[in-house]
Amino acid sequence: MNKNGFRHEMVDHHAVGVSSFATDNPFRVVQKQVEQAVELLQLDPALHELLRWPQREIHVTLPVRMDDGTTKVFQGFRVQYNNARGPCKGGIRFAADETIDLVRALAAWMTWKCALLDIPLGGGKGGVVCDPTKLSRGEKERLARAYIRAIGHDIGLLKDVPAPDMNTNPEIMGWMVDEYAALHGHNEFGMITGKPLSLGGSLGREDATGRGVMITVREAAKKIGLNLEGARMVVQGYGNVGSFSAVLLEELGCKLVGVADVSGAWSNPNGINARELQAYARKNGGLIRGFPGLGQEIQNDEKEPAVLELPCEILVPAAKEGQIGAHNVPRIKPRILAEGANGPTLPEADPILYQNGVYVIPDFLCNAGGVTVSYFEMVQNTYNYYWDLDAIRRRLEQKMVTAFEAVHKEAQERKVHNRLAAYLVAITRVVQAMQARGWA
Ligand code: GLU
Repeated sequence: MNKNGFRHEMVDHHAVGVSSFATDNPFRVVQKQVEQAVELLQLDPALHELLRWPQREIHVTLPVRMDDGTTKVFQGFRVQYNNARGPCKGGIRFAADETIDLVRALAAWMTWKCALLDIPLGGGKGGVVCDPTKLSRGEKERLARAYIRAIGHDIGLLKDVPAPDMNTNPEIMGWMVDEYAALHGHNEFGMITGKPLSLGGSLGREDATGRGVMITVREAAKKIGLNLEGARMVVQGYGNVGSFSAVLLEELGCKLVGVADVSGAWSNPNGINARELQAYARKNGGLIRGFPGLGQEIQNDEKEPAVLELPCEILVPAAKEGQIGAHNVPRIKPRILAEGANGPTLPEADPILYQNGVYVIPDFLCNAGGVTVSYFEMVQNTYNYYWDLDAIRRRLEQKMVTAFEAVHKEAQERKVHNRLAAYLVAITRVVQAMQARGWA
């Protein structure tokens, strides 16, 4: 019990084990990916074990007063996967299908992401099991505050720094920074990122993930000699990541010919205006359905979404994990697969994409723009001195291109696919820090 009387456990992974280990269990996916890298790097078993498991995880049970006067109890998690390179870093998701294994996987990917971008942070992730579409604004605020009260002594600028992720946003980060201040008796803006600008947020954070996607696609296009002028793109998911990726790639000349979100999926070979679609979705509760000019509606099956199979040069899955697997990968043939989402591709699909000549920009490279600007936000909070937008974009550009080049070079030299190359670069850096600390 913590001092608020909530259940608050530090769980040893060996005691918990891993719940369901189906092949598409995202934590199993991570462990498999790590295994491949560890084998090639010939790491010793203790290092492998440290890379395979989270260092620490917190499970909390949160009572929240609902608008109708009843109390609902929610489950939440925070996984602190690895802090060898610095404080843990990663978003908080509000999702109905959240599981501890998913949060573990996402926390692991954050570890590799920060290492690959060479920012001095480790990896973490948080999640609350809830259906945000069924919560009022007030209920979301009370849930956000309850979550921070429960984990508030285990996070902070020097320990673990949350951020927005699926179904969380700057407004929620604002409530969280305020609750943290109440708990500790002082403001500590750098304890969370993705905040509103009026509360220590950073310029350029809002479109940072999409901008990173755009930069890596642009670099990949150069490598494979693809002209982006008129290149067809398909985007799955039209939230923060998908919509800014589409808008910024449209500025480079790409044409949005297919798009999907939870409200449906559409194909339009004549092109859909990405910027207008973003403006429409913002006014329409985040959903794209109803936008004039979407074109032909197509099937939007959860297991085999047709949108991923539309002919295109650039495919951006920016929705959920586990979208591309053995069952549909033979029909997924863009020139560039830009993984805006975390974990959209299952391990079994990687060799097939590689064989088919698809240039994959793996998730923890492709979508790293968000955490990179989050890091800039922490730096600005620490200095209490704020940069202009040009400085942020210039630094983001430099970080993304450097990481892209490192992965591309590793893949060429080792003759392996880009995901494995990204793992090799990232894991080598995490291992160097672990060894320097004397962990193994
Ligand atoms: N949620 C984002 C991600 O998955 C950003 C995390 C952060 O800014 O800490 O990379």
